[in-house]
Amino acid sequence: MTDIVTRQTRSRMMAAIKSKNTRPEIALRRQLFALGFRYRLHPKNLPGRPDLVLPRYRAAIFVHGCFWHAHDCRDFRWPKSNRAFWERKLRRNVALDEATSRRLKEQGWRVLIVWECAIRHAKPGDLERLGSEVAAWLRSNRSSAQFNSESHRVDELTVDHQQPGRAAHSATCEPSRPESQLGTAADRD
Ligand SMILES: [Zn+2]
Repeated sequence: MTDIVTRQTRSRMMAAIKSKNTRPEIALRRQLFALGFRYRLHPKNLPGRPDLVLPRYRAAIFVHGCFWHAHDCRDFRWPKSNRAFWERKLRRNVALDEATSRRLKEQGWRVLIVWECAIRHAKPGDLERLGSEVAAWLRSNRSSAQFNSESHRVDELTVDHQQPGRAAHSATCEPSRPESQLGTAADRD
């Protein structure tokens, strides 16, 4: 029997195991630190161990890798082999994100998703902009949001997770996603 994943995907899996303190995470921390924000990292007592937590602002921030969290962006591509395996796996990740976000909100936290692509493809000035956008969100009383590479802004998450008739794990990260990205629309959105 052959190995279930290719070498390429295997190394991607291994890389993901050590997913704390990634370069994008550190870039975001630097920006916030420079703006005077102080935070806790990966607190064990909170659902999903958010990458950054700012208790004073009731804010939990996740820096999401585009592959592992199936971001609808140019960095995300389905692996060529074992499509069914990856669909299952990544859908499960998305469902977990959803559950984590819901639990945090139930505990009175606001949740911000910063997508890695927004940091990885940052041009001069983009990181500063990220910092000030996130700072503005922190100081606001806006609820859950995401920072995307497309808009370079903190945008509201418009999907209501608990809307009746929706699948239990409706989209956390993207309000709309083409069907081709993640199987049937009902599973995602
Ligand atoms: Zn992305």
